[in-house]
Amino acid sequence: MAFHLFRSYEATHIPGHKEQTADAPYVTYAPEYVYIPAFDGRGNPLNNTLKVGDAVEKGSLLGTRAPDDFPIYSSVSGTIEAIEPILTAGGRTQKVFCIHNDKKDEWTLAKPLPSWEEATNEQILAAMKSSGVIGMGGAGFPTYRKYNSGKPVDVLIINAIECEPFLTTDYVYGAEMAEYVWKALPYLLKVTGAKRVAFCTKKDKPALLEAYRVNHEKYPDIPVELYATADKYPMGYERNLVTLVTKKEYMNIPIEAQAIVDNIYTFILLGRYFTEGKTPDLRCITVAGEVKEPKNVLTPYGVAADDLIALAGGETIEKGKYINGGPLNGNCLASSHFATLMQSNGVLVMKANAFRAEPCWHCGDCCKQCPMDLQPVQIQMALKRNDLERMKALHAERCCGCGLCSFVCPARIDVSRNVQEAKAKVLMAMKEGK
Ligand code: SF4
Ligand code: SF4
Repeated sequence: MAFHLFRSYEATHIPGHKEQTADAPYVTYAPEYVYIPAFDGRGNPLNNTLKVGDAVEKGSLLGTRAPDDFPIYSSVSGTIEAIEPILTAGGRTQKVFCIHNDKKDEWTLAKPLPSWEEATNEQILAAMKSSGVIGMGGAGFPTYRKYNSGKPVDVLIINAIECEPFLTTDYVYGAEMAEYVWKALPYLLKVTGAKRVAFCTKKDKPALLEAYRVNHEKYPDIPVELYATADKYPMGYERNLVTLVTKKEYMNIPIEAQAIVDNIYTFILLGRYFTEGKTPDLRCITVAGEVKEPKNVLTPYGVAADDLIALAGGETIEKGKYINGGPLNGNCLASSHFATLMQSNGVLVMKANAFRAEPCWHCGDCCKQCPMDLQPVQIQMALKRNDLERMKALHAERCCGCGLCSFVCPARIDVSRNVQEAKAKVLMAMKEGK
């Protein structure tokens, strides 16, 4: 068994708070309603949508999103009772399908692929698109797009690091479902021509290490190597993983280093679709922070966050703030009544600390901790002056949004938000050719 141990001195250890949910089995929950976006990534309505009153099953096509007719499926069986606006995990209020769940769990199944030896590359790519699977690590882009670039691929990287504090869904549920990863891999190796696979997790995650061991023994012909990392943040950032696995750096996307990176749950969903014809339906979500009974919940995607908080015994504080995802990379929302998304992996209730940021101490801590070797304090000064040339010179566009600069700032400045504002300006300028 090939075994690699990362020694990342670039990343830093931060409190994980994972003990709230890591040691308990997940619970299953069937909500009365799910809320599934009726809009695409740009906020435009879906095409070919079903209507209010239509009956659906799990796997029913609700509509397709532009520009590539990417399918969106129902996660429950029941009836579409309304198509109306609701706050969604992305932070915007947008139209969703409000589907009453009849809890019968009836399926519209797709036809599974033939064996990987028989399936053609065209069939595999078409199945990846029709699966409706998106990147489950957070970004939510259709996964098939990474696989049809036509560029050479050396390695597929499975990201089972889950380094955001509080979140334990990959650890608790991903480990249990890991065999689907090995079921997906022969198809993905065939379609990409990749020669190897890197299974990346942390060395303090015994359930995932065991899942690797069991499946590696069961499927010895699939070339998967284990990469066990230290408990550092942000080890799971894809740029870190690509550099550590390939020893190469890239400018924009991992394919430039002949690598494709996906979250473990993305591979699981593909394995399920290829072999059973099941589209994405369930999501494991960590419900933690200031709630009475933190837990992992396996539930149809599109569940409302306040339903999950109620299931976790409710809030322990009077006025909290709500986070979709983890505290460092997630979206902070003012209300707990928001629709989770397919890629939502956490619903956290956190104390809404009222404090005022002080002027910068010029301590340099944000620069020391930045995993991208940026100078966050300088970038935010350039932003303040609206000095685009300086923001470009400081490479604000390379910020990975890990949030470490805000986390370590003794003056309590939200440095990360400022850097990301600068990043948006630089990216816009690059797009406009400025
Ligand atoms: S949020 Fe961006 S600037 Fe701040 S530490 Fe992370 S990568 Fe660096
Ligand atoms: S960590 Fe905060 S106080 Fe220190 S240099 Fe960076 S922005 Fe200024």
